[in-house]
Amino acid sequence: MIRRALMLAVFCAHDVGAAAGDLDRAAERAEMVARQIQDRGVQNEQVLSALRKVPRHEFVPDSEKRYAYRDTPLPIGEGQTISQPYIVALMTELARPGPSDRVLEVGTGSGYQAAVLAEIVDHVYTIEIEPTLAEQAAEVLRRLGYDNVTVRAGDGYVGWEEHAPFDIIVVTAAPDHIPQPLLDQLKPGGRMVAPVGPVHSTQELRVFEKDATGKVISKTAAPVRFVPLRRRHD
Ligand code: SAH
Repeated sequence: MIRRALMLAVFCAHDVGAAAGDLDRAAERAEMVARQIQDRGVQNEQVLSALRKVPRHEFVPDSEKRYAYRDTPLPIGEGQTISQPYIVALMTELARPGPSDRVLEVGTGSGYQAAVLAEIVDHVYTIEIEPTLAEQAAEVLRRLGYDNVTVRAGDGYVGWEEHAPFDIIVVTAAPDHIPQPLLDQLKPGGRMVAPVGPVHSTQELRVFEKDATGKVISKTAAPVRFVPLRRRHD
């Protein structure tokens, strides 16, 4: 009897501890969204709520977990980074995602941006050129229950013909020119958000909109710094 009571106490303590840990991180996320994202002008409620919900700490290596909600990109291995939370929020807002959208992301990295999009849209197809990162991201997304994200290892410059056309394309590595195959795979009425510019320098975050006739217009949203979009033959 005493033994059972003790065991129960141990389990309770453990459960309470885990729940408290999760609550702390939710509080950190709320703070991150308020200070880093809303204060900088992101207003889309669905975007804000996705960023409050997705556990960013699950998408970074153990050594970085305690910095997961800081206002900065973080290393994720293979010389790559998870973007700063504000940039993820800004790109998601610029993409104007809706519940029935089919999205292509180029540059899965940690899988975090894909998870944020997956909170809002119908399905996210995401391509990562580095096979180890693609595997890790697929595994985290599976573990967290994001069954509306499909990850593939490959060169995203050429898009994903099989699932095209896309309502939205989000490019999270910087090409030095606009990849024509991606514009081709955009639906009329669709949007592509991409950093375009010189490697290892500041790029322009640009929004491309394809109208009903197939004409593409673009505008510049902000100066950004992304890792370069590499090609398969690099
Ligand atoms: N969206 C990511 C961050 C991206 S970092 C996140 O939320 O964590 C950019 C990623 O693009 C890197 O992982 C890099 O390996 C990948 N990448 C670079 N060139 C690529 C290409 N041609 N196709 C697909 N992925 C590419």
